[in-house]
Amino acid sequence: MHKFLARDKAIYSFDPNHEPVISIDQCEVLVVETMDCFAEQIKSKDDAMEAFDWSRINPATGPVYIQGVKPGDIVRIDILKIEIAESSLMACIPGAGALADHIAEAERTFLKKEDNHIVLETERGKLDIPINPMVGVIGMTPANKSVPTGTPDAHGGNMDCRLATEGSSLYFKAEVEGGLFACGDLHAVMGDGEVLICGAETSGEVTIRAQVVDAPNLPTPLLENAGLYAVLASAETVDEACKLANDMMMSFLTKTVGLGVNDSARLMSLVGNLRICQIVDPLMTVRFEFPKWALDDLGFTHIGRTETTCK
Ligand code: CA
Ligand code: ZN
Repeated sequence: MHKFLARDKAIYSFDPNHEPVISIDQCEVLVVETMDCFAEQIKSKDDAMEAFDWSRINPATGPVYIQGVKPGDIVRIDILKIEIAESSLMACIPGAGALADHIAEAERTFLKKEDNHIVLETERGKLDIPINPMVGVIGMTPANKSVPTGTPDAHGGNMDCRLATEGSSLYFKAEVEGGLFACGDLHAVMGDGEVLICGAETSGEVTIRAQVVDAPNLPTPLLENAGLYAVLASAETVDEACKLANDMMMSFLTKTVGLGVNDSARLMSLVGNLRICQIVDPLMTVRFEFPKWALDDLGFTHIGRTETTCK
C-alpha cells in the first residue's frame, strides 16, 4: 500500500509557517486526496450561495515534507496517476473571469463523468467532452512569504496548466527544508485560457513521487512530458508572462541544454510554442513549450538525475 494523505489536510496558502502533515522519502509513492476548488461546498445547483465561505477557495492538500530536500534543490515531482470524481462542476459568476462582460446570470452546472468523457447539457442537446484530468494547483512553499493557493508564481501554485496530467513531471526549486509540497484543484478537462474562470472542477486523487535532481541552473517551474518540456511563467499581465517565459526557455536551452543564444533563438522561433495556460487568476500564466524530438536529435537526453533516480 502507498502512503495516503486525506483531503481534510488542506491549506489555503503556500506558507512556510504551515506544519507539514506528512513526510515522504524520495521516490516513495504518495496518494494525495484533493478537494475541488470550491472546497466541496457546492453540492447541488440550487445550493444557497449565501453560506459559501469565500476564504475556502482553491484548497491544496499538504504540505508534504520530502526527506532530504534542502533549500535551493531542484525537485522533480512525477504525477503517476490522477483519478477524478464522478461529477465535476462549473460556475458562471457574473463579473468574474475573462468573459465577465457576457455573464449576467449566475449558474452552477454539474457534469457527470461517463467512461472517458463528461457530459455537458446545452440548449442544442448533450455533448460528450473527452476528459483530460489535470492538476490546477501544484507547487512548493516559498521561504519568505505566504502565497494564497489561488495565485500562481515562481513556486508553482495555481498555474492551471492543462499539461499537468498523469505521466507528466514538474520541476520546482525548493526554498525551505523538505520542500513543503502541496497540490489540489483537479480539472476533468480545461482549455487553454480557462476563460470562464473554471475548468470542470472536481475532487480526486493524485499519485505522486518526488526526487531531487542535479540540475542547478534549471528554470522553474518546468513541466516535462513524453513529448516536450515547458517552462511556466506567471506575471501580472500576459505580456509580462510571455517575456518571462521566453527568458526562461532561453535559459533552459543555453544553460541546461548547452546551445548558443542565436541557435536557441532560432529554434524557439521555429519549433517552440508560446501558449497561454490561464488568464483568470491573480497572476496570468503562460508556458513556452519546446519539443523533445529536437533535443533528442541534438543529443540531449534528459535533465540531470542523481543516483537516487526513482526506479
Ligand atoms: Ca485553478
Ligand atoms: Zn480549478
